[in-house]
Amino acid sequence: MDTVDRRTILATGALALTGAATSIGRAEAQAAPKPIFAVPAVTIPIAGQAEVFPVRRIYCIGRNYAAHAIERGSDPTREPPFFFQKPTDAIQNVAVGTVADHPYPLLTKNYHHEVELVAALKSGGTNIAPEQALDHVYGYALGLDMTRRDLQNGMASEKKPWEIGKSFDHAAVLGPIHPVAKVGHLAKGAISLAVNGTIRQNSDLDRMTWSVAEQIAKLSEAFELKAGDIIYSGTPENVGPVVKGDVLLCKLEGLPDMSIRIV
Ligand code: MN
Repeated sequence: MDTVDRRTILATGALALTGAATSIGRAEAQAAPKPIFAVPAVTIPIAGQAEVFPVRRIYCIGRNYAAHAIERGSDPTREPPFFFQKPTDAIQNVAVGTVADHPYPLLTKNYHHEVELVAALKSGGTNIAPEQALDHVYGYALGLDMTRRDLQNGMASEKKPWEIGKSFDHAAVLGPIHPVAKVGHLAKGAISLAVNGTIRQNSDLDRMTWSVAEQIAKLSEAFELKAGDIIYSGTPENVGPVVKGDVLLCKLEGLPDMSIRIV
């Protein structure tokens, strides 16, 4: 076989392969492309229902109770709201009536609890007016914005992103979602966290600097909010460290308790 023949054969073969791939591609264009491996969808149980809430994004507000803003070194009277995100797969669902094992995370030596009300959205948009914002809330849950405080502070002191302190596996602990249709909108009521039976955080939702409605409005100026987004609405003062073996009990007036054990 001379060189020309070889080239001709190779070119013909390549064309034949291309043709085959194209026809297969056309045939498969009818169906969605097949993923090369499965990634589990993240969902949150809904109290009293078989259906689950699919999660799109996790937003969190920073320093949203004046006394907590002060303990974190900022002036709550001047600071506009600011937000960060956690990865969706950081969610650890905790069933009512259980004490879920929560792994002490990597790297940190100062692991903090932050008990928070979480709002779950059924719809969204941009530039949502505060007066309309609560129409987008599907329900509420009790949550823990777990924080590697030493890593957060270390990055903050260098004016670098907080992410390593806030966004890690199991960092978004959540009880089930309670639909607004059943529990109404939660704008006031006691919120507390105890460690090994001793109250550490104890406040009221009405002490939030920015209400859930205002948070939705403000977030929607920066991001298009969508169904499946959830918002951690900030923690009261007296955040603090936990160690392996500690049992955390979170309470929010109107919702069932939530409990984890650090392991
Ligand atoms: Mn928080």
